[in-house]
Amino acid sequence: MLYERDNIHRLTPYTPGEQPQRADVVKLNTNENPYPPPAAVLEAIRDVSADQLRRYPPPRAQQFRETAARLHGLSPEQVIATNGGDELLRMAVTVFCEPGGRGIGETYPTYSLYDVLAEIHGTTITQVPLAEDWSVPEDFAQRLNERGCRLALLVNPHAPSGRQEPLDKLERVARAFRGVLLIDEAYVDFAEFDATPLLDPERGLDNVLLLRTLSKGYSLAGLRFGYGLGHPRLIETLDKARDSYNTDILSQAAATAALSARDEARKSWEKVIAERARLTGALRQKGFTVAPSQSNFVLASPPGGGLSAQAMYRALYDRAIFVRYWDAPRIQDRLRITVGTPEQNDALLGAIDELSRAAGGASAS
Ligand SMILES: *Cc1c(COP(=O)(O)O)cnc(C)c1O
Repeated sequence: MLYERDNIHRLTPYTPGEQPQRADVVKLNTNENPYPPPAAVLEAIRDVSADQLRRYPPPRAQQFRETAARLHGLSPEQVIATNGGDELLRMAVTVFCEPGGRGIGETYPTYSLYDVLAEIHGTTITQVPLAEDWSVPEDFAQRLNERGCRLALLVNPHAPSGRQEPLDKLERVARAFRGVLLIDEAYVDFAEFDATPLLDPERGLDNVLLLRTLSKGYSLAGLRFGYGLGHPRLIETLDKARDSYNTDILSQAAATAALSARDEARKSWEKVIAERARLTGALRQKGFTVAPSQSNFVLASPPGGGLSAQAMYRALYDRAIFVRYWDAPRIQDRLRITVGTPEQNDALLGAIDELSRAAGGASAS
């Protein structure tokens, strides 16, 4: 007997990057920050009392909302706390999209979780291919409107290319689109600007929602904490569909401490940004094509004549260096490499040299 709905039966679940049990892996496959979270985060977790654990947590994470609002120059009514950024995506799909139609609009390629969430909800998916340089086509919003999309999902900086679209482009999409524009800013801590100016009431936009996560910038992927920023009406609507206690007391305390220690976290962003430039330059010197990235990863395509991206992915894997590879259109000739510490990046670059020497030797013989 099958008990599940048809769309769940047909569903291909999200495939996360591998999380090895071994500690000796050079792990450049899931865009984690290679540096530890701010010290205040661990202190805040230790300071949670038995009595706080005994009681239910503040349902809307009020203290966190106030901290986030201050940080971004917004009001707490413009902030919703979620169990990872992924929960905000799930809430947005269930709140804004109709089962059976009028669903999500996205680019191709993009974060593959979007499709999984739409399929679980049983809503439609409209894909608009990115241009050759990974930019969003000017008619993106119109094409989504024609298909009746209710929710546009734009990851910016883009994953997996790292390209960031400018504010004026995002604003044009928001004005032209007749649904909610969710700008997924999971990687924005590594970029030069963010989209918070679009939330300024003077712009008069009531359909923009920004996604933030503590997983990347704040080195807290294990904590599961993210948040949404948007027009108070959008936030209030999402709040209706929230699990009653969607974030727990430990993560609320840790996340509040993390945002309060932003200056410390920023030091890790600066190191990652410096290494991103070095890694990009070194890969290009080896003949790779590397898209300019505003993120904590680079999308790199190996030089022709040597190992294919897939073969290189496997050979690196055998050397306990994990990067990400997708056998999918437009990206099957590329590797997505998380920017690591200088030592990790050197290990990667050294292994690539060894591989190309071995490949060169094989073809010469
Ligand atoms: C990491 C990530 C998120 C959110 O991740 P969480 O760990 O659930 O906070 C959202 N979108 C993209 C594109 C991501 O890479």
